[in-house]
Formats: sequence, C-alpha cells, structure tokens
Amino acid sequence: MTEVLSLPVLVLNRHLVAVQVTTVKRAIVLLYGGVALAINEEGDSYDFDLWRELPVRGQDDAIPIVGGKLRVPRVVHLLRYDRTPRVTVRLTRRNLMFRDAHQCQYCGRRPALRELNIDHVVPRSRGGDDSWENLVTACRSCNLRKGWRTPEEADMRLARRPFRPKWTMTAQILLGSGWKFKEWEPFLKAAS
Ligand SMILES: [Zn+2]
Repeated sequence: MTEVLSLPVLVLNRHLVAVQVTTVKRAIVLLYGGVALAINEEGDSYDFDLWRELPVRGQDDAIPIVGGKLRVPRVVHLLRYDRTPRVTVRLTRRNLMFRDAHQCQYCGRRPALRELNIDHVVPRSRGGDDSWENLVTACRSCNLRKGWRTPEEADMRLARRPFRPKWTMTAQILLGSGWKFKEWEPFLKAAS
C-alpha cells in the first residue's frame, strides 16, 4: 500500500504540458480536491467521482477506498492554475551518473560502471556540499588524482559545470529507471 502511494504520476498543466512528476498520494489529493482531473490511456479526463467508477483491471495499481478499490491514475491534469516546471528527480549516485552520461567529467572516458565514482568538486573537507552543482561522475583514477583538492588546485578541468537536471532530463531519468507507463508517452514526447 505504501509502495503504491509513492508510485510516480505525471502532472500536466492546464495546457496539457508535462510539468512535474508527483506521487500517487499527492495525485489522489489533487483529484479528490477537484484541483486536477485524472487522464486515462485514451486521453479522456475524469473527475474523482467518475474516476472511482472505473474498474480496476489487471494492469492497474489500486488503492483501497470506502466501498471498494480506486484505480491509480498515471497522469493527472491540473485545472486551476499553472505551475512552473519543478524538478523532483532525486539526488542519487545512479541519477548523477545518468546526468553525466556515465562519462568521467574530468578525462571524458566512459569506463565500466564499477570504475566510476562520484566526486565532490569542492571537497567535503573544504565545505563542499552534496548537491547537483557540486557532485560529478569521475573515473577512479581521476578521483584519486584529484584527492582532496579543488579542480583548480589539481589542475583538472571539468567537462561542464555540474547542474540540476531540467524537466526533460528528469523524465528521461525516470523512464530510464524503469518507470515507464505508456500513458506518459504522448505527453513526454510533447515536452521535449
Ligand atoms: Zn577520468
């Protein structure tokens, strides 16, 4: 149950543009509150009362509600207001490596995954934080060579400045992580 509540749901703005990924829990709150409509795979919109009448099929996830089960929506559509794109991709080793295309940000090599580390650009001992802007993918040898120095001190140059992923990359990361719902496809294509 907890797991189902944290499944991702794609959120579209009023103009049907994908703007964020939320959880089932939050999506149900939006739907129940009349702030959003749920969209099925045919692209039809449903408010909460209509959506709760839909049967739960084999491929659906569902949550228990009073009087039965509620089909979990994969896409919801905000009715009342626009939201600026908000990135919700988690800062993890895997996602950082995905952002950097599994490429060492110092030497540009793409070694085997086990040869890749995450490097603090400004070392933690020097006040560097754990953030998208301070973490990069680095091969083991560059990581060792750099040690507890900044890139300037080590005379090593970053391929590009590390950044927080933008929406389209977030979608790719989520899809790349195996969260692929066919209901998302038409909207993600439109969002790139
Ligand atoms: Zn390297």
